[in-house]
Amino acid sequence: MTEIAIVGAGPAGVAAAVAAAEAGTDVTLIDEYARPGGQYFKQPAASFNSRQLPNSLAENTEHGRELLDKLNHPQIHLKCNTLVWNITSDRVLDLYGPDGAQRLQAKKIIIASGAYERIVPFAGWTLPGVTTVGAAQLLLKGQGLVVGQRVLIAGTGPLLQLAAVQLLDAGADIVAILELQSRTEFFSHASKLFGQWGKIGQGMAHQKRLMQTGVSIKYGYAVIGVSGKDQVEEAIIAQVDSSGRPASRTQERLAVDTICINYGFIPATELTRLAGCDQYFDPHFGGLATKTNDDLETSREGIFAAGEVRGIGGVEVALLEGRIAGLAAARQLGYASRRTENGHDFTQRREWKKTRADVESLSAMFTIKSGLFSSIASDVIVCRCEGITAGAIREAARAGVMQLNALKTYNRCGMGRCQGRICGPVAAQIIAAETNTSVESVGIFTARTPVKPVPLSIVGATGLAAVAMEDHVGYGYARR
Ligand SMILES: Cc1cc2nc3c(=O)[nH]c(=O)nc-3n(C[C@H](O)[C@H](O)[C@H](O)COP(=O)(O)OP(=O)(O)OC[C@H]3O[C@@H](n4cnc5c(N)ncnc54)[C@H](O)[C@@H]3O)c2cc1C
Repeated sequence: MTEIAIVGAGPAGVAAAVAAAEAGTDVTLIDEYARPGGQYFKQPAASFNSRQLPNSLAENTEHGRELLDKLNHPQIHLKCNTLVWNITSDRVLDLYGPDGAQRLQAKKIIIASGAYERIVPFAGWTLPGVTTVGAAQLLLKGQGLVVGQRVLIAGTGPLLQLAAVQLLDAGADIVAILELQSRTEFFSHASKLFGQWGKIGQGMAHQKRLMQTGVSIKYGYAVIGVSGKDQVEEAIIAQVDSSGRPASRTQERLAVDTICINYGFIPATELTRLAGCDQYFDPHFGGLATKTNDDLETSREGIFAAGEVRGIGGVEVALLEGRIAGLAAARQLGYASRRTENGHDFTQRREWKKTRADVESLSAMFTIKSGLFSSIASDVIVCRCEGITAGAIREAARAGVMQLNALKTYNRCGMGRCQGRICGPVAAQIIAAETNTSVESVGIFTARTPVKPVPLSIVGATGLAAVAMEDHVGYGYARR
């Protein structure tokens, strides 16, 4: 039994753990990775000296280390390399880690499970050399490895330019950045950023650095294909119209060995959905996020959500939400009273609301476009685990499949190892485009236990044998 269990040791989870422990609570902080820090404060492997990182990353790592040092608190029990693969609405977690299977009852749970990157498949995207922007950052932050020599970065959002600067500083040649939004769309939203001087300054510094090095930023462009024998040799790019569809006769070829893609993020809501917490559809990001009240408590009593899982908001929002959730959970257990916290609590919540609102105006600049999905060629694989193509998804839609769960039953899309985390958002867009319905109505794959693969023996050990139907990995479905 623990007083507060926190799932995810990223900025939100760490901030929650520190706030709750400092209020006097006993906290168990769990993360499936080897070290705490999450995506933003990812710490390098012990074998790698972070001083070798370029300045643009070293500062980040250092800032993270200051926060992570606070985890050395007698009331914080950190469990790394430990996956939370099941959760119940009465606050029981099933863990799989170095000690094998473990069941943890918590008085309160804070879910800070972060987000996944969104990709948009194109012809040849399964060739070695195509990766996500986050994966390239992970290699660099974690191991000091540069993902490729001649790199193309494509997608939408502020992460593209930031990652380009980081890779440039680490020695890569950035051939170009393709931003989905046209220059007009991009700059027509600029007035909404009024007052966000920090972000504007950061963005301008990145642009200056990229211009000085001759990196071209192509607005209103996307990758539509890749060619190469055993790995990426050329990227085929095209200008896109306002719906995201490639415009005719605008194709170009760029000689590259690596393509890094990021079309924004999708909140990792499996655990909150499994626990039965209410969700809402975020139109900017085209995905579900977890609903909470102002204390960040979900619709399930005693289960809180903080950071990207309750809506993509970036690191500042994650830190604030983690702190608010940590204190609110501690307060429910009788540790910190709202009265003593009042002045601080009020300022913190005001800052949180303002930061969230700022992020929303920024996210309006980088919305995803449906034409990108309707123009994926029929023979392009969308679900890599099961080998399901865009054509097969469209055929299912024409046969009457209007929802993701029905698609899974129809052709196994989303039934593999990743459980639809990568292909689900893409398949939803393809069905919506084909049936002329909204992505929201197409829905999301039902969250199943185990949320990520675990050995069958672990599932059996907890008495959940009914879900363990495959030979060594337990999912909720048997293979036909
Ligand atoms: C790949 C990637 C790269 C990013 N790069 C940047 C960047 O360069 N700059 C920027 O401003 N923002 C970046 N972001 C956005 C960034 O994630 C947020 O700003 C911030 O890190 C959010 O904090 P968080 O605590 O909500 O989530 P995260 O930092 O994602 O932390 C979530 C943690 O939960 C853990 N977790 C999830 N599920 C489970 C489970 N079932 N069991 C155990 N542990 C679990 C994960 O291992 C992870 O450590 C990136 C996001 C991603 C996904």
